[in-house]
Amino acid sequence: MADPTKKPLRETYTTQPVHRPSIRHHCGLFGIWGHDDAVALTHLGLYALQHRGQESAGIVSIQGDHLARHAGIGLVSQVFDEPSLARIKGRVAIGHCRYSTTGSCTENNTQPLLFSFAGGQVAIAHNGNLINAALLRRNYEDVGHIFQTTSDTEVIIHLLAKPTHQTKDNPLNHVLNHLQGAYSLLLLFPDRMVAVRDPLGFRPLVLGSLKNGAVVVASETKALDMVDATYVRDIEPGEMVTINDEGVDSRRFGGDMGGRGAACIFEQIYFSDPSSRVFGENVHLVRMAMGARLAKEAPVEADVVVPIPNAGQCAATGYARESGIPYGRAFTTSHYSGRSFIMPTKEGRDLTVKIKLSVIKEAVAGQRLVVVEDSVVRGTTTRGKIGALRGAGAKEVHLRVASPPIRHPCYFGIDFPDPKELIANGRSVEQIRKFLGVDSLHYLSHEGMLACVKMAPEKYCTACFSGNYPMNVDEPVEKFALERVQLRMFT
Ligand code: SF4
Repeated sequence: MADPTKKPLRETYTTQPVHRPSIRHHCGLFGIWGHDDAVALTHLGLYALQHRGQESAGIVSIQGDHLARHAGIGLVSQVFDEPSLARIKGRVAIGHCRYSTTGSCTENNTQPLLFSFAGGQVAIAHNGNLINAALLRRNYEDVGHIFQTTSDTEVIIHLLAKPTHQTKDNPLNHVLNHLQGAYSLLLLFPDRMVAVRDPLGFRPLVLGSLKNGAVVVASETKALDMVDATYVRDIEPGEMVTINDEGVDSRRFGGDMGGRGAACIFEQIYFSDPSSRVFGENVHLVRMAMGARLAKEAPVEADVVVPIPNAGQCAATGYARESGIPYGRAFTTSHYSGRSFIMPTKEGRDLTVKIKLSVIKEAVAGQRLVVVEDSVVRGTTTRGKIGALRGAGAKEVHLRVASPPIRHPCYFGIDFPDPKELIANGRSVEQIRKFLGVDSLHYLSHEGMLACVKMAPEKYCTACFSGNYPMNVDEPVEKFALERVQLRMFT
């Protein structure tokens, strides 16, 4: 028998998690300071942001001198009911809806996370991914910290609670300088709410106001509209906004980025709601412009332009207007099955597509179709939809994709699959055309995509298309470093 005194206390960390409890997510944030119905309004705000995450939802409010929380697994409509909202009633609240990958959808990981530490209580809600979270976490675990979640977000609180950080003039400001990656944050303390956007501005975050003077923060302006708040401005990259009864205070952090930014262009292409204003411009209009540009770059003779619902609709409108080919419908959609891309399992995605799309056979039979899709990730669901159009008797199918080929993984908060699963990774457009079974296939060019958005090219992240990451990401270590490191004891 081995001498137990010679056993290391902790033997090894592994980067091969048993059940892949991912900490990758793409989420929606909403917060409000100074309204008697803050919790009810936050609940409404989360409804408006449900497209950003469907796996869990939560709200934390201020009640007197402490924070109260209700959160759970499921859609906003499933997590909250009247009694749960009444229990956390308050004048200040922050809310979160979350998406993650298989295995990580646990009660522990539902946000906002709520902690108590020497500095008091704090709740945190996060949209994005910290690429140095695994390293920071391991450093803390090495000195005995116990983590309660498998979320990258928790490491921010461990940084904040560190005694040497608590002695700083502004501990949170100090902590933010330790973070690398994408983070739009909402933090709630018993006396203040803090909204933060990382120095490169990967994820959107906007400031609004209500008629009574209440301050509102949201991932997208759609949520401001939902509660009748007025859009005030975007929270700037590298800005920390503190809100309390005294008013709104803004300060900068993160230093000079040299004019660079990393606004995620995929927010414009797919993720944000078309009604939202993201990175200073309306998403629907951007997608229309991308469709129009695609029509110029890749014209084709056809009878009708049809979108692949739902995100392809704006681009298809733009394509139809520019080309002069009538816009039509090939599919009907059910609104009750969720978005296939953000369903966590392949089985879930396949089933969702089948449930939610039906071909209108009479509109398709004998027609030469231009089918417009916002993006193609794995290609399997697109192929299924094309197959359905063929089955319904389409004479020709010409696929136009309103974004460039996705060839690289995202490390900043959108859960693209393993690069091997990306249809455009290592394949030519002709190979993809054959795989999808279309008569012709064209993607929007990289230049064309950037010509359709307002800011200068150096202000955007386009890494999943170009491979040019806006910060160092050490693949493949970082890919798995964002998974929970697992502690194993020798026996
Ligand atoms: S890699 Fe793609 S999806 Fe990820 S942040 Fe950059 S543009 Fe967005």
